[in-house]
Amino acid sequence: VIEIRNLHKSYGSLEVLRGVDITAPAGHVVSLIGSSGSGKSTLLRCANLLEESQQGDVVFCGEPVKWRGSGMNRHPADRKQMIRIRTNLSMVFQQFNLWAHMTILQNVMEAPVTVLKRERAEVEAAARGYLEKVGIGDKADVYPAQLSGGQQQRAAIARALAMEPKALLFDEPTSALDPELEQEVVRVIKALAEEGRTMVLVTHDMSMARDVSDHVVFLHKGLIEEEGPPEQLFGAPRSERLRGFLSAGQ
Ligand code: ATP
Ligand code: MG
Repeated sequence: VIEIRNLHKSYGSLEVLRGVDITAPAGHVVSLIGSSGSGKSTLLRCANLLEESQQGDVVFCGEPVKWRGSGMNRHPADRKQMIRIRTNLSMVFQQFNLWAHMTILQNVMEAPVTVLKRERAEVEAAARGYLEKVGIGDKADVYPAQLSGGQQQRAAIARALAMEPKALLFDEPTSALDPELEQEVVRVIKALAEEGRTMVLVTHDMSMARDVSDHVVFLHKGLIEEEGPPEQLFGAPRSERLRGFLSAGQ
């Protein structure tokens, strides 16, 4: 579904991604791990075109992003394509970013109604289904502030699912949560993985990464230092840096 080839991204003179290749085929879960500042969030934002990149390709469902200009002046050339890609790669953030003035149900319904122009009644039925799926069907009519962090994050996942995206991008979905609430969210992510959803997951939770991933990528200073199946990365890491990272108890 998503393919990134030789991606380069700088902020001014700071090179954050220095030639990264990532493929997330349909039905696969790819996890990105690495130290703070290694470029994980930047890579996710470049994948769904929230952020520009200076070199390399982003390919969505076999369709390469069209660019105009080059280097620091490179931008997506086709606005419709950009919107199609963004709406098909729903992102879930560390801070759930729910709209505080809307109920949970309204939060989930908002984008399908306004962006996808779907019919309200249809969207509402689907939204209630997604809330059930993440285990907060009874919270449809309350406001975000009335929910625990784990419930808010599950609402954010329901909202992402309501767009019926081709893939889900998660940026540290559990790291703002207390350990006991974290598990509620981990369970939802595991269930999505078992359903065969395509996902790219940035996480500090190595046990979740080991459990849900088909492929794990260890980023170090904007380059892939090691990648492979979770058994290899966690069971028999080859790189000294990865061994150091894992034993530091990240
Ligand atoms: P963390 O685990 O802390 O979330 P990360 O791997 O997600 O880290 P990024 O957020 O991708 O790291 O940041 C990579 C580098 O890019 C960091 O050095 C960061 O300071 C820099 N950076 C990120 N966003 C910007 C920005 N908007 N402007 C300038 N520099 C930025
Ligand atoms: Mg980050």
